[in-house]
Amino acid sequence: GQTAESNRNRSGLLCEIKSIIKTESFTEHYDLIPGKELGRGKFAVVKKCVKRSTGLEYAAKFMRKRRKGQDCRTEIIHEIAVLELAASCQRVVSLHDVYELPSEMVLVLEFAAGGEIFNQCVAERDEAFKDEDVKRLMRQILEGVAFLHSKNVVHLDLKPQNILLTSDNPLGDIKIVDFGLSRMMCNSQEIREIMGTPEYVAPEVLNYEPISTATDMWSIGVLAYVMLTGISPFLGEDKQETFLNISQINVSYAEEELQRLDKAAVHFIKSLLIKDPKNRATAEECLNHPWLQTHEQNAAKETVKLKSVITSIPEPVSTGISSQHTEE
Ligand code: ADP
Ligand code: MG
Repeated sequence: GQTAESNRNRSGLLCEIKSIIKTESFTEHYDLIPGKELGRGKFAVVKKCVKRSTGLEYAAKFMRKRRKGQDCRTEIIHEIAVLELAASCQRVVSLHDVYELPSEMVLVLEFAAGGEIFNQCVAERDEAFKDEDVKRLMRQILEGVAFLHSKNVVHLDLKPQNILLTSDNPLGDIKIVDFGLSRMMCNSQEIREIMGTPEYVAPEVLNYEPISTATDMWSIGVLAYVMLTGISPFLGEDKQETFLNISQINVSYAEEELQRLDKAAVHFIKSLLIKDPKNRATAEECLNHPWLQTHEQNAAKETVKLKSVITSIPEPVSTGISSQHTEE
């Protein structure tokens, strides 16, 4: 069976989807792997499953349509629509199938076998990410976020539990999941809402000020801090203290774990953990940050710099370098 969705757009939620919602039995086409719960949130359970016709593995996200007595089908449709919008982006988990059951919807997602980056974030330092891993993974996270922002989607729940890996050993690539809190930033409408996870939430969210793509960039700053040090920079004894730490930007750059880091990494974090959203680096700017450049890119930039130094030497100077050499 198919269901046509109406074309509406309010409070930043998309209402139109391309996927065909299948209403026949999910279990006729997929086998659930027993005892393989991949994760669970407040209203969703994610289980590993295998498609019978192909033998391929997927992650099935079972989402309750009613939550706290409220119909949440609209929110689920929005989550599907955002996944469709990001279908061409490798850094966002892909959507394979959608089923509707009497009380649940099932999103059949690409299976990210490496699990959450959370595990390596809180691991003992010898099992945690190496600085080079963090650079590569952070570049990938930013590629995904830059793609989403270019489509006017803000994720609003970027945290280690929502960043998965295709494999964990050897370390694979990242997949961004969970668009449950995401919003479209169109029509220049102002969205102000309390949401997200305390530790990763930006000051403007706490202060009930407008949300923007910069709100995600704050979370990226917290993520980078955690991935590099294993320390959650704003975490307090309780929610109250965490919120206070965030609104006062009470963050320490003196920790031993930060001292050993590349100066550029600390500069990167500082360019994001800024109170005024307007002053935070964008995803595109972050991708161009010196910390995340590869050796080849750095070498290329050095060449450009060198060239400009050479060409800025006033004529006539006996450098032995002819102008033909410098103007290629
Ligand atoms: P919620 O909205 O309940 O947080 P998520 O989409 O974040 O739901 O899924 C909950 C958890 O399930 C994730 O944190 C992750 O551990 C696991 N999970 C979700 N999607 C996948 C996937 N595609 N592959 C593997 N595990 C997944
Ligand atoms: Mg989640």
